[in-house]
Amino acid sequence: MKTARTKTDLQNILNAAREDGKTVALVPTMGALHDGHLSLVKLAKAHADIVAVSIFVNPTQFAPHEDFNQYPRTPEDDTAKLARAGADIVFLPGEEDIYPDGKDSKIKAGAAAHANLEDRFRPTHFDGVVNVVSRLFDIAKPDAAVFGEKDFQQLCVIREMTETLDLPIRIIGAPIIRDAHGLALSSRNAYLSAEQLEIARTLNKTLLALVTDINSGAEQETAIARAEQTLRNTGFDKIDYIALWNDRILAAAWLGKTRLIDNMAL
Ligand code: AMP
Repeated sequence: MKTARTKTDLQNILNAAREDGKTVALVPTMGALHDGHLSLVKLAKAHADIVAVSIFVNPTQFAPHEDFNQYPRTPEDDTAKLARAGADIVFLPGEEDIYPDGKDSKIKAGAAAHANLEDRFRPTHFDGVVNVVSRLFDIAKPDAAVFGEKDFQQLCVIREMTETLDLPIRIIGAPIIRDAHGLALSSRNAYLSAEQLEIARTLNKTLLALVTDINSGAEQETAIARAEQTLRNTGFDKIDYIALWNDRILAAAWLGKTRLIDNMAL
């Protein structure tokens, strides 16, 4: 596996691969990699000859009060995991590579970013995501890019951006990878205490019960209110939302200072 530390490094490696007729898939991440990320690498390998994984904790998608400084940064571990997973290139850019002319963006997130879900609680988040992803796409010019359904609204926002900008990039969605208890893997799970982890592991079960309820004809609002009550009873400190959108149940809830998200198809 090759390591690219600058935009020029990455472009040199990718241009050489393209001259050999190879296709490229990009997997954008913020690092602290787990099996969810590695599943994206595997899926990317099935869709392209060369897989490049970027690791960049993107400041523009964090609000000032959020966990940008505290976000786990483990580049050495990540690099070893990516090599084992069969990635071809790890791209570890600095801010000067991604935001050479400042962090302002001409490109804003579209309608999918105005769904009264994540956007309601993180109003600047998707503009930051679109800002960084459009810049990564511009640098790497991949044939395909893989994003997890874990961040389902984000996946929709990126599909919309790619269509709106008419980019020749295939956006591939990857299923959510969960632990043995059904908890969706997340870099932020590392913030949880042992007690909070136990509670976190009930979120998927509550959502599954809600999916079953709705599929068997329960009234949506009542079923959602019941699921919210279950989360409160189980020990969640705050529920940002449980909602139905694009044939999915999506949820965000807090355990102490940690915000968890999850979603499931109906
Ligand atoms: P992040 O590093 O959190 O920005 O995530 C990078 C990519 O990995 C995003 O496309 C996420 O949706 C995806 N991802 C994160 N966790 C999971 C998971 N448990 N299963 C599948 N994909 C995931």
